[in-house]
Amino acid sequence: MLLVSACLLGVDCKYNGKNNLNNKVLNLLSEDTLIPICPEQLGGCPTPRIPAEIVGGDGADVLDAKGRVMTKNGEDVTEYFIKGAREVLKIAQAMGIEKAILKARSPSCGVCSIYDGTFSGKTKKGNGVTSEILKRNGVSILTEEDI
Ligand code: SF4
Repeated sequence: MLLVSACLLGVDCKYNGKNNLNNKVLNLLSEDTLIPICPEQLGGCPTPRIPAEIVGGDGADVLDAKGRVMTKNGEDVTEYFIKGAREVLKIAQAMGIEKAILKARSPSCGVCSIYDGTFSGKTKKGNGVTSEILKRNGVSILTEEDI
């Protein structure tokens, strides 16, 4: 059983109201059970929404109250991202999830690399907020680019 970023399965939960459908991920349905999650929606963010990035660190810093998640318009949405991460963790623990495939570079779902907070498409090292909380709780995570 795998936890999967819902946008990779074609769910229109992305900030712009679209998705990141990935056929390699979708094809995993033939051999495994996939549990779709969107931490930003679970945290209470609307769809569509203004894009947000982590400013001043990464998901670890956000969880440790040292970094913030800001929208492109300068609104602080940190609390929504933390709530979403905690809700995803609840699902993972309730379902006994050990592995996840999450969307690369997202401030929630990114793994080892995330957008750098300048809204320029550049990246920096670090996990998204949800990836970080899952890793801290023993879930191993790949992105769609790793499969
Ligand atoms: Fe996809 Fe994750 Fe962003 Fe939701 S929060 S749209 S699942 S990358």
